[in-house]
Amino acid sequence: MSSNEIEVEAEPFRIKMVEPIRIPSRELRERRLEEAGLNVFLIKGEDIYIDLLTDSGTGAMSDRQWAGLMMGDETYAGSRNFYHLKDAVKDILGFEHVLPCHQGRGAENVLHTALIKDGDVIPGNTHFDTTKAHIEHKGATAVDCTIDEAADPYIDHPFKGDLDLKKLEAVYKEFGKDRVPFTVVTATCNSGGGQPVSLENMRAVKRLSDSYGIRVCMDGARYAENCYFIKTREKRMECHTIKDITRMEADCFDIMTMSAKKDAIVNIGGFVATRDPDIYDKIKNYGILFEGFVTYGGLAGRDLEAMAVGMYEGIEESYLAYRIGQVRYLAERLKEAGMPVLWPPGGHAVYLDMKRFLPNIPPDRFPGMAFCAHLYLGSGVRGVEIGTLLNGRDPKTGQNRPAKLELVRLTIPRRVYTFRHMDYVVEAVKKVWSMRDEIKGFELVHEPPVLRHFTARFRWAP
Ligand SMILES: *Cc1c(COP(=O)(O)O)cnc(C)c1O
Repeated sequence: MSSNEIEVEAEPFRIKMVEPIRIPSRELRERRLEEAGLNVFLIKGEDIYIDLLTDSGTGAMSDRQWAGLMMGDETYAGSRNFYHLKDAVKDILGFEHVLPCHQGRGAENVLHTALIKDGDVIPGNTHFDTTKAHIEHKGATAVDCTIDEAADPYIDHPFKGDLDLKKLEAVYKEFGKDRVPFTVVTATCNSGGGQPVSLENMRAVKRLSDSYGIRVCMDGARYAENCYFIKTREKRMECHTIKDITRMEADCFDIMTMSAKKDAIVNIGGFVATRDPDIYDKIKNYGILFEGFVTYGGLAGRDLEAMAVGMYEGIEESYLAYRIGQVRYLAERLKEAGMPVLWPPGGHAVYLDMKRFLPNIPPDRFPGMAFCAHLYLGSGVRGVEIGTLLNGRDPKTGQNRPAKLELVRLTIPRRVYTFRHMDYVVEAVKKVWSMRDEIKGFELVHEPPVLRHFTARFRWAP
């Protein structure tokens, strides 16, 4: 930014419609938490004041996106809105083939069914939970090849989402291209703290993978936020526009799965994109089987239009500066207050380190869940555990897999809450901190077999 400009990342929008929210009474919060089996995931939205559960599908669409909804062409096959989306993806990312899907995991299901077989190995950088669950559902194994720095919540490394090329090559050497159908690079890395992947690392991963004949897939839910980090943190990248960087990023990949509920700022949607016509041929049959015809993929024409418009809004530099700036604002305020915050802050959320916050609660007593319960009780704010509960059990031994990082994520929806809401959240977290010595862990009462964190129920440990 040049010196005669004001360096505050204020909102690059004004508000023309509001949705009232309220703080439920303490008594009601106690009742609702009890009814939810202490799992804040099971509390109704109307009983939450500030909802930082996820940034997925929770963003506010723009007037242009809403206008796009009115332009829906609900033709079963060949809707014009599909072609708008296809053109946007081609223009921004350069992928020729686009298969719309109802959301990110729909895209994963289609791609994984087409390319993964029993016994395969899928390396990556801390796979997202639905990605890992889909890989395991196909009888394959996800191998984490993230750099070691990612395991230290306080090392100030600009690209903690990077892959360790030695770890990756070891997987390639052991299993070869017959058992590694592709590597998945998640940018930014959600389960690793919303940490970005550098362009240099993406390029190196691509070169290495090419030399083994292995394809690379971007889990690109937050590909635009990742571009902003590349622009602001990577050497010699400052001079490029975000749009240029999106293309440089995409050039490192053969395939991309997209949850458009993130960086395309829609409430529902996703896609698989590729430049390889053979892959497109394979996935399109599963697209039809699981999602719908290839030009709508489980979505209405209007949804495709909102997505096409949102693809462009998601890469606007003023928007990204505000977006990443708001996350950093919350992280900095919490850090100033002495809270243990994962550093540096990532793109979409602030992560609190439960190993420091609640050091006396062991992983299998789910300290992150206990924190979220108290955060809700104290303030009506909802966060989410990203730790041992989310990590699930080892499919072979049935044991809990203690998470490397025991975190709570405060996830910021796009264009929804103000900076003043963030101040409220800071006070809410400080309140839990002030009573941390009295906080007990959780015991499982009900545990579903897959993606258990969504519906598990608990009681307080004695
Ligand atoms: C959200 C997300 C997904 C899954 O997408 P859904 O739209 O929620 O099904 C996959 N990968 C990453 C990195 C995500 O953040």
